[in-house]
Amino acid sequence: MEERKVRVRFAPSPTGPLHMGGVRTALYNYLFAKKNGGDFLLRIEDTDQTRFVPGAEQYIIEALEWCGMKFDEGVHVGGPHAPYRQSERKEMYRQYAMQLIEAGHAYYAFDTTEELDEMRERLKASNVASPQYNYITRESMKNSLSLPHDEVERRLAAGDAYVVRIKIPRKEEIRVTDMIRGNVLVHSSQMDDKVLFKSDGMPTYHLANVVDDYLMKITHVIRGEEWLPSAPLHVLLYRYLGWEEVMPQFAHLPLLLKPDGNGKLSKRDGDRLGFPVFPLEWKDPFSGEISSGYREKGYFPEAFINMLALLGWNPGTNQEIFSMTELIEAFSVDRISKSGAKFDANKTKWFNQQYLRAKEDAELAEIFNKELLSKGINVDINYVENVCALIKEKAQFITEFWSLAFYFFEEPTEFDAEVIKKKWKDNVPDFLLNLTNALKTLEDFSHTSIENKFKEIAEQTGISPGSVMQIFRVAISGLAAGPAIFEMISLIGKEKVVARLEKAIKYFNETK
Ligand code: GLU
Repeated sequence: MEERKVRVRFAPSPTGPLHMGGVRTALYNYLFAKKNGGDFLLRIEDTDQTRFVPGAEQYIIEALEWCGMKFDEGVHVGGPHAPYRQSERKEMYRQYAMQLIEAGHAYYAFDTTEELDEMRERLKASNVASPQYNYITRESMKNSLSLPHDEVERRLAAGDAYVVRIKIPRKEEIRVTDMIRGNVLVHSSQMDDKVLFKSDGMPTYHLANVVDDYLMKITHVIRGEEWLPSAPLHVLLYRYLGWEEVMPQFAHLPLLLKPDGNGKLSKRDGDRLGFPVFPLEWKDPFSGEISSGYREKGYFPEAFINMLALLGWNPGTNQEIFSMTELIEAFSVDRISKSGAKFDANKTKWFNQQYLRAKEDAELAEIFNKELLSKGINVDINYVENVCALIKEKAQFITEFWSLAFYFFEEPTEFDAEVIKKKWKDNVPDFLLNLTNALKTLEDFSHTSIENKFKEIAEQTGISPGSVMQIFRVAISGLAAGPAIFEMISLIGKEKVVARLEKAIKYFNETK
């Protein structure tokens, strides 16, 4: 068989915001495609109209864009296999359902909801744990296998509502070859006659998914573990539709687990433990409830992606920091683990911190400046850049910058009371006064020059420099801790520093 170009798809259903597990699925597809010089598609699987949530599709697109994943084809970028939204492909699926019926691999079923319920009740009453529409029960139901041919014809002609079900063989081993799990064998007696085509004229997920993967020439299906039980059905569909030759290879990804247990990570865990599970903020269109997102919490998309990439995959080395390009280079399906990956919110913060430290000061300044402008603070961007350079080591998020650095932009109005109480005594007031006067006339206001002066005055006052460092800081910033002090003083500038010192001395004397 000729080598086929690698083509993978991310195929979400627009039933709500994209969970980070979904982002990871998209990411692994993306990395796999790019690693292999292939295509990455976005297909929207919206055949279940009852679960449609307005805004979800737009959200998914925006979230993946924020994460830096680019699609080669898809609902928002078009492509040779358009449309990429299944509801717009509706007409394409019926013929395949009919093809399956003709080949004897599917059948019409006319059962009403009541009849289905009744069947389940009946089976439950005779101790069948999970009643199914299958090779045994189908005999006693109303379908084209059990009803006389002319009645089937009559019902179809009369326009009776029907669904199309697959006819699962009675005794067959079905083998799913999974790139992560190896061979998975399922006995067909465990499977039920799933609906492929519904009475509303829409295919179900199973049929639409297989038909579209075939038509869109998908070579690898990389998706969440929750779809593994459906894979044998999909294998049968490929076989019965005559597409076995080009059946994609499957890879079912391990679950993302909650940080403090073994269950699947859910939005509730995020609410409970205080971390987002969605890439972007989501406002539920029905309840109006707002769920926070990584973007709004101040995470860099690169950090979020880096963290997700390592949640279920490892590079085989100790390297932890990967750009998207490095991830593409390093990625391979055989390093995806079989077992679930525990999410660690602190590690995620750590990743953000690493990216924050590595960012150019100018880039940070640009982001921080937006916040400053929104507060009505309009200062030289070089000044903002210098502030960023000084404080970035202290932060994990840009969103913390203001609380760490507000005093570079406005005078503090509160001062650390503990420090004042503890330190404002003996000859400390003299020291600060002397220092203020000395700084007033200091020509060179560089940090080394300030530091020298500081030491000189401490010595003259007969005090150890280390013991007055903190009160000096509090006088300028109000806070007991912060960045390198002499750099900070130098940056704020002589005039402001002197004015603040004078005010602080007065205030300390009054409040001590
Ligand atoms: N529409 C399915 C989902 O929402 C896609 C599963 C698959 O990739 O086959 O996850």
